[in-house]
Amino acid sequence: MSTSYEQLLDEAYAALPEKATHSGERFEIPKFDYFTEGMKTIIKNFAAVCEKIRRDKPLVSKFLAKELAVPLEEQGERLILQRKITSDVINRKLEDFVVRFVICKECKKPDTHIQELGHGVKQLICEACGARNAIRQ
Ligand SMILES: [Zn+2]
Repeated sequence: MSTSYEQLLDEAYAALPEKATHSGERFEIPKFDYFTEGMKTIIKNFAAVCEKIRRDKPLVSKFLAKELAVPLEEQGERLILQRKITSDVINRKLEDFVVRFVICKECKKPDTHIQELGHGVKQLICEACGARNAIRQ
């Protein structure tokens, strides 16, 4: 009888969600802090955000230039967009970027890196679960 009780206990523990013990670790997508100046929009924490999501600055700026259809240039820690943008579209695009280029499709963790396969083909490789997913450009 004690054996079956222990078995039940084991099963109960096994059924617990894995994340239950450290729920504070959920990855939060960082936000760009920006302001407009004349006809420009200046992202103050561009370098810091890139560091947090562990992606090269040129990859992020190229994505934003394409998605927002706006010329831009890096200036130290900042990114200067050559247009006045007052809506929060910049942070929505950042979320798109993180979902496509950072978050693992399988386990939803941000512990990933990008591997170039040549001919412009890239893969997102997860360091947490080992999943590999093609990145659509
Ligand atoms: Zn994963």
